[in-house]
Amino acid sequence: TSCHLKGDVDDCCNCSYQAVEDINNQVVYPITTELVKTAFFRFFKVNIHCDCPLWPDDSMCMMQACSVCECDPGEVPQPWVVAEEKSCAVEKALPQNCSSITCSAELDSRVNRGVEPEMKARLLNLKRWRGYNNPWMAEGEEEEEYLYINLQANPERYTGYQGEHAHRIWNHIYGQDAFSDLSPNGGGHERRVFYRLISGMHASISSHLTAKYLLDETLGIWGPNLLEFERRLGNEGVRDRVENLYFAYLFVLRAVMKAGPLLEKYSYYTGIESEDALASRMIRKLVRSKAVQSSCPMPFDEGRLWKGRDGPILKQQLQEAFQNITRVMDCVGCEKCKLWGKLQTLGIATALKILFSSADCEAPFSPDDTKTVTHEEEHLELERNEVIALINLLERFSASISYYHLMSQALQSKQPLS
Ligand code: FAD
Repeated sequence: TSCHLKGDVDDCCNCSYQAVEDINNQVVYPITTELVKTAFFRFFKVNIHCDCPLWPDDSMCMMQACSVCECDPGEVPQPWVVAEEKSCAVEKALPQNCSSITCSAELDSRVNRGVEPEMKARLLNLKRWRGYNNPWMAEGEEEEEYLYINLQANPERYTGYQGEHAHRIWNHIYGQDAFSDLSPNGGGHERRVFYRLISGMHASISSHLTAKYLLDETLGIWGPNLLEFERRLGNEGVRDRVENLYFAYLFVLRAVMKAGPLLEKYSYYTGIESEDALASRMIRKLVRSKAVQSSCPMPFDEGRLWKGRDGPILKQQLQEAFQNITRVMDCVGCEKCKLWGKLQTLGIATALKILFSSADCEAPFSPDDTKTVTHEEEHLELERNEVIALINLLERFSASISYYHLMSQALQSKQPLS
């Protein structure tokens, strides 16, 4: 196992650090690295040009490494574009200047008035785009402009975004009231789970940026920076960050396994047949993996949360705190960091929705162009972007664990990595 990580990752579940490394090397890493290259998983819909609601002096990092290269429109799966154009046509037919609430009411009444089935499906689809129907996400603004970004063309790596602007974001996240008391009293267990998820995501970002560091700006050479790795993740004083990365990984893995039946039936349609078939096959292989089921049958036990008398209040508090975290992503002053920050927070919100929000979700429906299916009796439905974020998040955490392992070994043996 990587240096000094011994025993179980969490006391709830018999899943050791060694078992995580084994399933990661044998199953999760090889499968997710292939999955995220397929057409369905490489295009993420996101608004990266949004305003920061918190600080007016927000400035953007102008360095080359911070910028995002946007998709050529012809590259985005055409069936997705066509479905959206149809939705836009329906939207234009709605009364002008209606707020999202009145629009919603108008949509409801049109749907209930018995419009023809095809129109009804599009109206429902349009309504869904006003938000994710995910209680852990801050609601999107009605007028938001989304772009498709090719994630493979914009790898998560060192950008040079740092200093007070980056710290302001992290301080805002960790400084929330919801994380002020992590002791076992007063909902400490639930608060700690949330803290560990965020800290694990932060550690994952650190792992990626140190594994893919800009070593020589003039020559454009990228590679691992062991000194930076040691400072951020590779020393005994910050072992908790790495433990939180493993914890967050198991949390997301549990969500993927739990949503397995839904993910297996999901439509991975992009119009590129060979890639769509590959995506379905790989998902099936992942969620049915015998190695995962035997080494870590219960990667995380969600049944232990929200148990006490204060459970519902605590859940609401943590929902608000997490919504704030998704909102503060609009303030990240580097496009590429914002892209990956938004993807990863949506991925965590999706995992939270799968594990905790069965009672909060509305009844499912199936518009013609976004296939949704029920998950057991729980009426779980996931948007395409949620599925994309969830699987890419698992891949990010999985790669981080793999990089962590390689870099800590190199550090111990004092061998440079190529
Ligand atoms: P930071 O990583 O900024 O940490 C600030 C403080 O938080 C530390 O001093 C420490 O007290 C605490 N801390 C650090 N790690 C943890 C942890 N795992 N758990 C708990 N507490 C911790 N930079 C890139 O180069 N590429 C990226 O893709 C990128 N993406 C980003 C995405 C987001 C959403 C944000 C907010 C920042 C991103 N950054 C990225 C910037 C990067 O995270 C650092 O902020 C930056 O490199 C400066 O690092 P630092 O050493 O000053 O400490």
